[in-house]
Amino acid sequence: LVIAKDLTKIYRAGDVEVPAIRGADFVIEPASFVAFVGPSGSGKSTLLNMIGCLDHPTAGTLTVLDTDIATLGRRAAAEFRGKYIGFIFQDFNLVPVLTAYENIEYPLIMVQKWPEARRREQVRRLLDAVGMSAQADKRPDQLSGGQKQRVAVARALVSNARLVLADEPTANLDHDTAYRIIELMKKMRDEFGTTFVFSTHDPKIMAEAEVTFTLEDGIVLSRRNHEEAAHA
Ligand code: ATP
Ligand code: MG
Repeated sequence: LVIAKDLTKIYRAGDVEVPAIRGADFVIEPASFVAFVGPSGSGKSTLLNMIGCLDHPTAGTLTVLDTDIATLGRRAAAEFRGKYIGFIFQDFNLVPVLTAYENIEYPLIMVQKWPEARRREQVRRLLDAVGMSAQADKRPDQLSGGQKQRVAVARALVSNARLVLADEPTANLDHDTAYRIIELMKKMRDEFGTTFVFSTHDPKIMAEAEVTFTLEDGIVLSRRNHEEAAHA
């Protein structure tokens, strides 16, 4: 689903070059549940931003859903994201004046322009899938952190994304809640077949992924497949 070959990202700040990703090679399989793990500054966000077509590689190739993302201009990239990719953020990024229901519905109005009846059915289905039907009419300030992230998970899936990218989705949650959000994402992967890729610096959260890539100083060090490891 995602293929990176010698993927490189160098930020330029004036005369200074900051190599953020240095020659990364990796493959992400369809319907997998993947974590990128590494300390602060190791390049996790840079990598997820490139996979999400929010930022261009400096060198190497990155293929997402059979599309070489370097070939996408700004508008094409936005269209590609709207169609295929869902995002979940560390700070939830819900619209404060909208209810849980309206936050989930928002991409269907703004990006996809679905008709009303179809929207209602889809939003209800996702509210149910993430266990938030009873809170549909609450605004974000009336929800706990874990509940807000459940809404964000539903919103990431509402346009039938093929790939969901979550940059430190559990960083603002206590450990038990963090664990439950990861379990929820895994359940959504099972139910919808959506590929989930998340980043974390928490080794305990990392252990919940099926495939883990370790990042250190912009280098993708290792791929660990937990199932293979468990059976070895
Ligand atoms: P964190 O855990 O703190 O979120 P991270 O693993 O997500 O860290 P990145 O944000 O990808 O790390 O940063 C990787 C490197 O690139 C760091 O050295 C950072 O300072 C640098 N960097 C990131 N964004 C920019 C930018 N826009 N301009 C210049 N340098 C940047
Ligand atoms: Mg980051």
